[in-house]
Amino acid sequence: MYKENAPFKYDFVGSFLRPSNLKRARADYAEGNITFEDLTRIENEEITKLIAKQKEAGYHVITDGEFRRSYWHLDFMWGFNGIEHIELDHGYFFHGEETTHGSIAISGNIDGKNHPFVEHFKFVKQFEDENTVARQTIPAPAQLYAELFREKNGENTVKYYPDDEKLIQDIAAAYRTVIADLYEAGCRNIQFDDCTWGLFCDKKYWNGRQNAETELKETAEKYLRLNNLALENRPADLVITTHVCRGNYHSTWASSGGYEPIAEILFGGENVDGFYLEFDDERSGSFEPLRFVPNNKKVVLGLLTSKSPVLEDERTIIERIHEAAQFVPLDNLYLSPQCGFASCEIGNKLTDEEQWKKLALVKQISEKVW
Ligand SMILES: [Zn+2]
Repeated sequence: MYKENAPFKYDFVGSFLRPSNLKRARADYAEGNITFEDLTRIENEEITKLIAKQKEAGYHVITDGEFRRSYWHLDFMWGFNGIEHIELDHGYFFHGEETTHGSIAISGNIDGKNHPFVEHFKFVKQFEDENTVARQTIPAPAQLYAELFREKNGENTVKYYPDDEKLIQDIAAAYRTVIADLYEAGCRNIQFDDCTWGLFCDKKYWNGRQNAETELKETAEKYLRLNNLALENRPADLVITTHVCRGNYHSTWASSGGYEPIAEILFGGENVDGFYLEFDDERSGSFEPLRFVPNNKKVVLGLLTSKSPVLEDERTIIERIHEAAQFVPLDNLYLSPQCGFASCEIGNKLTDEEQWKKLALVKQISEKVW
């Protein structure tokens, strides 16, 4: 394992474009043309190649690129006992595009024993060396809670969990189990991916609602409590960070707005070591909300976009880093793309080569600044 842990001065969020071999294998498996063993073998091959490329690019973090998942969040949720895979009659509505239709339903008591992602992590861990740290990305606990109440999902959820507090406690306990098992497997870096905060930032989403302000505050505080419950008793040498996401699907986005409405609650209150924040366009607002980031927490500025192959102007990015440094000391700042390259298997609209060029630029800029 590398001597330092995340975040790294040049870093990435975790998901990578799926190679065509892998896409074909997943489609073949879905149609019953190949076995699960065949699929796993191809996934292993492609993940091995990806990790070699991550190392070649000089990064200190390695991930499986989320190659075994179709979604950044649902596949992990399906791995809990007591949660089943369902298909809704429509997907999430992104800006100009609708996603595929997967969702979750409770079918019993939620617990985190024998979560399949622990085995997935072990596969990545074997490649960790003196220059790298193996990272596991998982959706934040609040994201699971939110999905359980997405549209009509809540009707089923309250049948199994009429007591909301019991649900919160069970989700948190299930996460603690998975986190402990990941730690046991050698994991020292977990990243929570969290779209719930992105939605809190979205003025348009809240504008139409009565009592929007109270509702926002109450929901945000509930989500914060749930995430922190899941983090209780975590080992001191396990770095956990949060990536606040505004949605990233086939180069489109879901929510819009600066961090101000949740800055104090989230930056001040969540017991994580740092935040990977999107700042790649005007939808992310200004750096001013970063004034709420305490001195013991780090901020990874997602200033380059994974949504487009266009390479950012180096000087502009460097200027923006120094602007952000008015609110968070430069030493506590880091650089990455704003999000992964393929939050869902469909991926963003850029090529494999363009993806690596983007990461080369992140590293190049970072080395000039720090
Ligand atoms: Zn994201």
